[in-house]
Amino acid sequence: MALNKSMHPRNRYKDKPPDFGYLASKYPDFQQHVHTNLTGRPIVNFKEPEAVRALTCTLLKEDFGLTIEIPLERLIPTVPLRLNYIHWVEDLIDGQKQLRRGIDIGTGASCIYPLLGATMNGWYFLATEVDDICFDYATRNVEQNNLSELIKVVKVPKKTLLMDALKEETEIVYDFCMCNPPFFANQLEAKGVNSRNSRRPPPSSVNTGGVTEIMAEGGELEFVKRIIHDSLQLKKRLRWYSCMLGKKCSLAPLKEELRNQGVPKVTHTEFCQGRTMRWALAWSFYDDVIVPSPPSKKRKLDKVRRPLSFTLPEAALKELQAKASTLSDSPQSPLDSVTALLVKTLSDLRVLNKRGPCNKQEQSLFLTALENTWIHGRQKKREMVRQLRELPRAPHCQTTGVTAASSSSPAPQKQPAPTGNSNTQDDGTQNKTTSGQQQPAELNNSSTNETLSQTVEPKDVSLHVAGEDVDMEASIATVAGQETDAKEAPAADNDRPSKRALSPGAVEHFLFKCLLNVMLEDSDVIIEMHWVEGQNKDLMNQLCTYLKNTLLKFVAKP
Ligand code: SAH
Repeated sequence: MALNKSMHPRNRYKDKPPDFGYLASKYPDFQQHVHTNLTGRPIVNFKEPEAVRALTCTLLKEDFGLTIEIPLERLIPTVPLRLNYIHWVEDLIDGQKQLRRGIDIGTGASCIYPLLGATMNGWYFLATEVDDICFDYATRNVEQNNLSELIKVVKVPKKTLLMDALKEETEIVYDFCMCNPPFFANQLEAKGVNSRNSRRPPPSSVNTGGVTEIMAEGGELEFVKRIIHDSLQLKKRLRWYSCMLGKKCSLAPLKEELRNQGVPKVTHTEFCQGRTMRWALAWSFYDDVIVPSPPSKKRKLDKVRRPLSFTLPEAALKELQAKASTLSDSPQSPLDSVTALLVKTLSDLRVLNKRGPCNKQEQSLFLTALENTWIHGRQKKREMVRQLRELPRAPHCQTTGVTAASSSSPAPQKQPAPTGNSNTQDDGTQNKTTSGQQQPAELNNSSTNETLSQTVEPKDVSLHVAGEDVDMEASIATVAGQETDAKEAPAADNDRPSKRALSPGAVEHFLFKCLLNVMLEDSDVIIEMHWVEGQNKDLMNQLCTYLKNTLLKFVAKP
């Protein structure tokens, strides 16, 4: 499932969702909750607490060798979400291998975090609970899995969180605490009133859980604030404090609280599983901890670093070699030929290009573009017309006349960010966003790679600039109100700029700089353009398209 791409990379269910058919054939208790849908696929009804419980118990048995019992009237954990949190704690404490100690605040009847952490990583756990029934079940679940040496379940008074649990052990430094707090402030919120958009359909997974489990005065916000205040007293007694959040909107006020209190290290993450989203916050008073980047930053960095690329398949290379041989007398390898043709094209465009490191597998060129010489004259005209049309409505902030096409590219069609307030305490397989829409699939790296083909449709020259969809040709065609022939789109042959002496020394004002790599991979040649600096990455997108179409023309017209 595409959505699972956002699961923690080490989550065993990321690329391998549970096989209900197989599990049903192996576990009769589970089998009775598995139905077949119209297409013959085995499915589980997440609105039935019995079915959710059967799945959880079955997965814990099958994948972790754990046997647990949980009452229907208490929270039934779902395994993929709990695993996401465990893996994030591993990232925080680098705790996959070494001996680590953690605290689970409110362990629940299942005692799931300690059971998973102890089984997977050998972690020691202090598991706290206020509810009698949960405490009894949790104790039994630890015992029946022979994990009493690693997990200690303690009953604590409701008014305290960490302070009471730690008052007897004054010496031990814990590596982390984790907590899945009661999410709701009151019965209404637990039922979904006020907490979700009224147009959204009701949750499709059941909200299991007893009153003390899912409700706390002030909801999760107040509950986590209380943990923050305990942490301000305990400070370095724990290396990391962490908490899961059921609502994205809890994140900002809690981060602000931590900032106001001068907590030095703060990070957060999001957990995606199926269509359910959760968030988590972590903070530390240690300066030497490794702070994993929040997911949005990671994604942004990925986008910034992702190069533009296209592939010249082996079949096209012969033609390109033949064309390159007209430029030089000596026979050239496919890599040399492509580089030579690129250098010729770039020089014709008056794009400064300087050879970088070269070897048999890879050659590079440092490019500095001073002016936009690759946009076709007709495109420029259309662009100007479009700008004139738009002027009264939306004046642009524009840097140079010829770069207009780039600034006119439509804003990338961003999918709505997952900002949902889910009112279900648990995850099932539902990812509830405020829009009620499915999460977009992650941008696929492979979508930035293009293979040179004989016929280039406008869509074929749509490239990703820094991870954003910028369909230059399509956007130009649309705004000009007429069809654009892709072959004329980048001005490969026509409108060639006049030759002019280049003076690399005088490069003070430039449009952009980038690194162009020409690489041999198997028998194909891949061209990558890495952004370095400049005004607008769409310009690099345009140049990339121009280079690609120019090489294409060499193939089409030997
Ligand atoms: N960790 C389990 C259960 C989470 S539900 C899971 O992820 O499935 C929240 C739990 O916190 C409930 O079991 C509730 O009884 C417990 N709880 C509520 N207030 C608490 C407190 N002050 N200290 C410890 N546990 C508490």
